[in-house]
Parts: sequence; structure tokens; C-alpha cells
Amino acid sequence: MQYLSTRAPAGSTERKRFCEILLEGLAPDGGLYLPERYPQVSDAMLNAWRRLSYADLAFEILSLYIDDIPADDLRALCRKTYTPEVFGTPEIVPLKKLEDGLYLEALSNGPTLAFKDMAMQLLGNLFEYELARRGEQLNILGATSGDTGSAAEYAMRGKQGVRVFMTSPYGRMSPFQQAQMFSLQDANIHNIAIQGVFDDCQDIVKAVSNDLDFKRKYKIGTVNSINWARLMAQVVYYFAGYCQVTKTNAEQVSFTVPSGNFGNVCAGHVARMMGLPIAKLVVATNENDVLDEFFRTGVYRVRGSADTHETSSPSMDISKASNFERFVFDLLGRDGDRTRDLFGAQLSSQGRFDLHADPAFPQAAQRYGFVSGRSTHDNRLATIRDTWTRLGVMVDTHTADGVKVAREHLQAGTPMIVLETALPIKFAATIVEALGREPERPAKFNGIEDLPKRVTEMQARAQDVKAYIARHCD
Ligand SMILES: *Cc1c(COP(=O)(O)O)cnc(C)c1O
Repeated sequence: MQYLSTRAPAGSTERKRFCEILLEGLAPDGGLYLPERYPQVSDAMLNAWRRLSYADLAFEILSLYIDDIPADDLRALCRKTYTPEVFGTPEIVPLKKLEDGLYLEALSNGPTLAFKDMAMQLLGNLFEYELARRGEQLNILGATSGDTGSAAEYAMRGKQGVRVFMTSPYGRMSPFQQAQMFSLQDANIHNIAIQGVFDDCQDIVKAVSNDLDFKRKYKIGTVNSINWARLMAQVVYYFAGYCQVTKTNAEQVSFTVPSGNFGNVCAGHVARMMGLPIAKLVVATNENDVLDEFFRTGVYRVRGSADTHETSSPSMDISKASNFERFVFDLLGRDGDRTRDLFGAQLSSQGRFDLHADPAFPQAAQRYGFVSGRSTHDNRLATIRDTWTRLGVMVDTHTADGVKVAREHLQAGTPMIVLETALPIKFAATIVEALGREPERPAKFNGIEDLPKRVTEMQARAQDVKAYIARHCD
């Protein structure tokens, strides 16, 4: 399998292999990598996959996209990653029935209790494998408002050849999220609390990465959600969810996905393009409704920081959706020139583009199955209360946005699977507001807030972060 950039000019033959793009972020032209075609899953393959463990299902799917890691090594990496010890159950992503036709797929029983573990745990093992093979080191620099940073740190802790430098806005994460990250004592994990907001952290990461000499000298890399390997790992649980709900491949299911950067639901799009019988892909946003606006109107409008709301589902608080370019590339018939014009030229000059009059736009729903909805703080509270009191299931704030929007898109005869993206304990304050009680806490996290913390506070200055990295890279 070869990979191309979403901004590749017509006729370009520039292609890369999987292991070349594994450690890279954006393509050099500013685009995102996609496979040059989507491998097709036959009826016989899907039938055979129904009997596999999650780890072996992951191996089957990944080997359609990776041909530069020997099969035995790749299978061993999958089996080392997706274990009941790490993910809590033999199914890895067990299904919970909410009511007739409506299910939750549990993606948040990994080490940090959010779905990002599903991909990040694999990425940690892939990075360690590939860096050892090349005899190289990598210093991962990131910015987090919570879930990404902790998932990255728990995936990379103790790994050979990798260090993590994770910036976060001082005092802005939930107490549980802070405790998760700052209690890690591994020598290769560095927490940097920045006096500022999340945007300041992102600006620092950009400034450091734009210093190409520094980037090269200190081998700076990233693990953000535009990484193809993360997206590919997420494709697996769409297949696993489908196989748990259905008995035959004649049945269709729909998925509702709590969305921010469009990474999770983009994996659903890839699964659907591979032939998984998905009826609808429902994009659920919070008050930061960039994506809902696009799917309703055809207008994609990036928000300024003044229009980006701090909500009670904070992992979906985005001003633009960094993976969305992948879907638009497909929607426009894989026209790299147009994609470059929209996401390069138009977004930087006008902050928006409008596809409502384009013949491709109706295809988003008709051909690709995308619909959307949004949820507010009040919807979130009402949904958390309703699923708890009536159905006896406690959901986190992001999953609540999913359940709320899923109900607006139910179709008789088509099961709806809502992806559970985090456990309630991560966002306890809103659970208390909704239910007047604390969420359940998995036993292994008892007393985590009282553990010693390993974190360095810093002003929002890129040069200070660079100096810190330089000091810790010898
Ligand atoms: C990251 C995250 C999301 C959003 O996922 P995207 O891939 O950015 O769309 C939703 N819910 C939770 C809990 C998350 O951590």
C-alpha cells in the first residue's frame, strides 16, 4: 500500500510507504496522508473476521495498509497492544445495550479511560519497533487540554528511543486528568504546565516545530490526531462493533461519534469505504459546531478564539477540525488541487469555504452517509440524568452528546451504536452537577490525586520550552 497527500497535484506520482509516514505529521505540502485506495473487504473476509480476537482482527485490518513490517512482527505488535490486562475485558471494546436498537461501544477502558488509548497504545509499540529498527530516537512534543496528552504519555512511558514533552495549560485540566499525567514518574515523560491557555500551548508547539534547525537537531516529532497510524488503528473498532451487533453481513448498522477534530469519525468513513455495511455516520458536536454547520449547510467556517467555547465536553472544544481535510478530499473525487485551494488558500485568506452549491455536497449524506447534530450543556445534563435514572447507565459528557444526537437519527431496523469516548470519572464536576453524586471510580485510580506530581511550570515562551528540551536530551 502506498500513501499520497490530500494536496497532491493532479498527475503527481509522489507516494510513500507506511513506515515513512508513521513518524511524520503533515505531508511536506501541508496536506494529510491517505492510502492511495481503500482495500475492499469481501463477504468471506468479514465472515472469517467475526471469529477473531480483537488483536487478530486488528492484525488483519492493519496488514491491508502496512506492507513494510513483516507479518509476524505486526501480529506480535497487535497482540502485545490489545490485551485484557491493558483494556479491561477480553472483548477489548464490549457493547452495552441502552435500549432496543441503541448501543454503547466501550472504547474507554484503556489506561487513561478515553478512546484515544485505542490508537495511542498501538502507536507506542509501533514507534518503539520502528525506532529500534532504524537505530533512531524521537522526542515527541505535544500540546494537550487533557485526553491526548495523558493517552500519549501512558502509551510512551518506559518505551525505548522515545521521550515525551507535553505542554498543558496550567490549572485548566480536570483534577483527575492532571493527576493522571503528573503522577507519572517515568524518566522519559516530561510534563510542562504553561502559564496560559491551550492555544498558547499549541502556539509554542508550532513555534518550536517551525524552527527547522532545532527540530532536526532534537528530532522533534508529534503524535497528534492527523497521524495516519492513529486513524488506521481506530478503523478496527468499527468492525468489532459491527460484528458484535450483527449476525450476518446483510445487516446494516449506524454509528454516532462524539466529534472534535474529526479523527474518530474519519476512521468510520474509512471503514465504510472498505465495505463495512454502515448506513449512517452521525457526527455529534457540542456548542463548537463547526462540523454540524458544514453537514447542514455546506459552509465550513473556522472559528476564532473568541468564538471557541469552553464547554463541559472539553475534548470536543475545537475551532477547526484538523482531520476534516481527509473527508473533503474524498468528497471532491480525490482532487488534490481543489483540496489545496480550499484548505490552503481559501481558509487562510477567508477563514471559510462554501460547498453548498457544489454538486459534490449532497453526496456527503447520500453517498457517504454523513449526518450531524449538536448538543449543549443543558442537553448534556438532561441526557446524563435520563440514561442514569431510566437506564441505569452513567455516561460521560462527550458520550452524552453522542447519545443525544443519536436519538435524532434512529431508523427502525438499523441498530445505532454510540461510541463511548470517555468514562464519567474524567469529568466528575459535570456528573455531580447532573446527578448530585460522584461518578464511579475504577479501583486502580483510588487516591491518584494524592500521588507525588512530576511537572515543571513555565511561562508561555517557546524559547523556555526549547531550553528545557535541550537540557533533557543529552
Ligand atoms: C478526543 C476526544 C473526542 C473527539 O475525538 P476526535 O477524533 O477529535 O473527533 C471526543 N471525546 C473524547 C472523550 C475525546 O477524548
